[in-house]
Amino acid sequence: MSVPPLCSSRLVASLIFALCVACDDSELPTVEGQHIDYRWEPQLTPCGGAGAALDEAVPWFGAQLGLAESRYPKSSYSWISDNTFEERHGTLDYEGIAYRGRADGRSPNIIHEIAHLVDGRWRRQGPRFFVEGLAVALDPRHSADLLSPRIDPTPYIDGPLPDDLSYYSAAGSIVTYLLGRFGPGRFREFTEKLSTRASGEEIRAAFAAVYDEDLDDLIADFLVASECPEDALPLPQPLSCGAPRVPWIDAERWAYARPIRCEDDDVLGGHGNDRDSASIYRTIEIPEDGDYTIALYGDRDVRLTLGSCGPCPWLNELHSLNDGQREEVWLPAGLHMIVLSTKATSIALAGVTVTPVHE
Ligand SMILES: [Zn+2]
Repeated sequence: MSVPPLCSSRLVASLIFALCVACDDSELPTVEGQHIDYRWEPQLTPCGGAGAALDEAVPWFGAQLGLAESRYPKSSYSWISDNTFEERHGTLDYEGIAYRGRADGRSPNIIHEIAHLVDGRWRRQGPRFFVEGLAVALDPRHSADLLSPRIDPTPYIDGPLPDDLSYYSAAGSIVTYLLGRFGPGRFREFTEKLSTRASGEEIRAAFAAVYDEDLDDLIADFLVASECPEDALPLPQPLSCGAPRVPWIDAERWAYARPIRCEDDDVLGGHGNDRDSASIYRTIEIPEDGDYTIALYGDRDVRLTLGSCGPCPWLNELHSLNDGQREEVWLPAGLHMIVLSTKATSIALAGVTVTPVHE
């Protein structure tokens, strides 16, 4: 009897050591990308832009972290069924796993795992809290609609971490703040001083050495800050902030309407393995701070998410609408992401309008 090859050394989405019964996915259907070869099991149906989106995520995240292009990963992502995932990784506790420079996902587009792959080329990785924190910061929608909530990370810094994923939001929250306030370089330096099992005391000492600030004071400021500092960086930014910008029709009206067809080459998502989702990303430039009416027209199951791509995401509100809804909201000037989501198994019509409110 032969022993299956070990196929995990450093798991970034899981601490388990998995036995891989079929590590080589090169026989699967594949869309070759510049950075990510996208593969899927034949019973699954990815949408037309699923592979391209993950491929684009590599330079998008790499540039934000200041990673040299020559260091970008050339890697693969396999969308596999729950059965295959469990056979490989011995668990269904995770939606995806990045390991040894490749990723397996139970759903078609786990951008979070691509963030791990880029991170794996960027720094020597320290405590799990900050490894997951960076992936959540770069892909906030994976763990929650987390662009703005501020969560106290102190209990997790003092550890131990819970076995479940309940610390992801707190981790993404503080890492978002550290990146936006101080940039990626110091974050890397700070976390590289730490071992995987660093204690709260060691984390505080490394933080003081690199940031020249007391971590507990900084956390206290973070939890109550209401102003965006002038020198805040426009970091981190989700992949949707890199989407094509739709121009205004005129000064009074912005509109975007289309059918969302899974097979279109700018649609993320897919159906199969009990997953059924299709999304498109666009951006809109908001000309000035003020009140705007946003409205979503469309078929049932269409959802809109709109959020700022500007600095200080911890202060920005994320707006979510279902079909037929309209809402008056305050928006800061600058680029905003638009995410339209529906099911991949039906063709949905979606239309969004944005109009300034005049008193
Ligand atoms: Zn992760």
